[in-house]
This record gives sequence, structure tokens and C-alpha cells, in this order.
Amino acid sequence: MVVVLDQARAWAAAAAVPDPEVPCVTVEDLGILRSVALVDGVAIARLSPTYSGCPAVLAIEMAVEAALRDAGFDAKTERVMSPPWTTDWITPEGREKLRAYGIAPPEEPVGKGALFGETQVTCPACRSRDTERLSEFGSTACKAQYRCTACLEPFDYFKCI
Ligand SMILES: [Zn+2]
Repeated sequence: MVVVLDQARAWAAAAAVPDPEVPCVTVEDLGILRSVALVDGVAIARLSPTYSGCPAVLAIEMAVEAALRDAGFDAKTERVMSPPWTTDWITPEGREKLRAYGIAPPEEPVGKGALFGETQVTCPACRSRDTERLSEFGSTACKAQYRCTACLEPFDYFKCI
């Protein structure tokens, strides 16, 4: 029983860690926290990197370890490469949070291989689909910059992979 409670506590501590680049969403919202296991008193958090080469990966691992230590656990993280993370893993709650933050969540189903293709993106402010891409890269490489031609609001689009 104690073990089960500890496990839930470890999950909660790790799950609450915000993404360093998009602090409105947590590692749980993004779907990158795969599991937290307690093995011989050590909390082992397994994380899937989001965009490969995204510099946030290391920062996220360190933040999760720190959160687990703050919760009283010995902690380490493991990187899970397979199956690869896709934007499909972002939870409905995470998508809502992105939208509220002014970032359009990824739209297309994954697998079309069109990372740099044109995507019809919905404006997070007014929900218009009349948007245009300004730049392939927004504030980070994971995002593209768009502008809504209806309300003229510029916004980041979380690219679909
Ligand atoms: Zn708009």
C-alpha cells in the first residue's frame, strides 16, 4: 500500500514539471512522461524526447529529477526512444492549455511526412482558419510563426510530427 502511494506521489511530482520552452504545459500534458517506477527506493522516470535534437530534452530530464528529489525520492531518468513521441500524444487538456496560451496546437494527423509542408492552422485567438505562415521557425525550432488574417493576431504553431 505504501509502495502504491509512493508511486502515485512520484508520478504526481514528475508529471507537474512544466516544459521549459512552453511553460503552460507539463510533461504529462505533452505526453512525454511515459512512466514513473519505484525500483529499490529509486524513482525512475521514463521520458520520450519530443523533437529530436530539441535542446529542451536535457533540461526536462534535469527538471524531472529535481522534482522527484524535492518530493523525497532518489531519482533518475531514462530516455525512451521507441516508440517515438508524436504530437498525437499531447493530451486534450494539453491542447486546450496551448490554445489558451496563444499557441495553436498541432492539427494534422501524424504520418503524412509533411513537417515542412503547408498546414491549415486554426487561430488560437478567434478560431478562424484563415491563417498564413510568416516563418518556419517561431520562438523555438519546434514552432512555426503564423498570423491570423481574420483578427491579425500573430501566433506560434506547435508543429506536427
Ligand atoms: Zn484570429
